[in-house]
Amino acid sequence: MALDPSRTVAELRELQELTGDADGAQRVAWTDTWVRAKEWLAERVPLEAEVDEAGNQWWTLPARSEKAVLIGGHIDSVPNGGWLDGALNVVAGVEVMRRLAEEGEPATTVRLVNWADEEGARFGRSLFGSSAAAGSMADQDELRTRRDAEGNALPDVLAEHGVDLDRALEARKQLENAAAYLELHIEQGPVLESLDLPLGVVLGTFGVERHQVTFRGQAAHAGSTPMDKRRDALAGAAKLELENREIAKRTGGGAVCTMGSVVTKPGIVTSVVETAECLLDQRHLDPATLASMLEAAKAGSERIAHEEDIEVEWERIWQIEPILFDDDLIELAEESIQEVAGTSHRLPSGPLHDAAEVARAGVPTVMLFVQSLRGLSHTKLEDTKEEHLELAVQALDRLTDRTIAWVGSRP
Ligand SMILES: [Zn+2]
Repeated sequence: MALDPSRTVAELRELQELTGDADGAQRVAWTDTWVRAKEWLAERVPLEAEVDEAGNQWWTLPARSEKAVLIGGHIDSVPNGGWLDGALNVVAGVEVMRRLAEEGEPATTVRLVNWADEEGARFGRSLFGSSAAAGSMADQDELRTRRDAEGNALPDVLAEHGVDLDRALEARKQLENAAAYLELHIEQGPVLESLDLPLGVVLGTFGVERHQVTFRGQAAHAGSTPMDKRRDALAGAAKLELENREIAKRTGGGAVCTMGSVVTKPGIVTSVVETAECLLDQRHLDPATLASMLEAAKAGSERIAHEEDIEVEWERIWQIEPILFDDDLIELAEESIQEVAGTSHRLPSGPLHDAAEVARAGVPTVMLFVQSLRGLSHTKLEDTKEEHLELAVQALDRLTDRTIAWVGSRP
């Protein structure tokens, strides 16, 4: 059976028909629709499915060499999501598995995995299945207390799906023989479209620094306090937001800084702002550069506080290290893209992906991005040209063969 990329597009449309509605994809993990999507997927693979302790679905094409090339994605979606986010790779992976199965025993074991609950849409915990398999899940005590919007406890809902939270980390054994991990995903951003390129190689996922920055001034009457006598905390927030744009611009290399929220108190029209609580998110692929972006923002905030005669205080909310993909696999991915599309491009990923968890576990990893129209995702408007989807399936197929050969050539 030769590779048939147009079948992938047809199957993705069929999946959307089966599990979506007028508002978009509804394959939220740990719901009946998600179960239907998993069953639909299992019917498509010419191999027996195995479900691990974290709810991940695996299909294995065995070979004499137990070293395994993994192809992974996630069939779950956000509510009112797009038809391609996550589903593209598992469905494209099915096509590659069918082609390989038809050709007989591959040179190394090849496995397809559908990760459970990448999106974290129901309980707010992203990358559930992949972090369990990677062994990085360390928040089980906290997860025990999580509830969905209807008040259902996470452990109870998982149990209904055959997953015992206390045993989820036993999924780690699935990565024991993993020698490489490949993931194709829609870009979910505008870069490839702006370059008019169908495909790109992902260098890694951004590190993230997330802080609450609080400026404190003095509440004072809006009518009786002259402009030059004010200690206005909002002025600090406003200046820091503009400073952040300069920091990102001057840093370059894909640097992004976002002040996603400012809460002002007392927050009434008749008072100068006394406190402004800002949420700041900074991302970069290089750890030292990310650290210097944070330093620059802190120094900027001190200068601004001095200028405005206010105080500033920083508190870290969350951080994650940048995760870099494997240099050899990046080369192989680039060759594969050039073979099917002529030109490739290297870019970082702003969003996190299951691939980051697998890479963190020490498995050589790479991702392919295919162009997203208008850069939109997590909405029913998410889309990619059919011809680009077909090129993406071909690139994944070429990359799989190259990776099998690469794994075979390593000691
Ligand atoms: Zn995704």
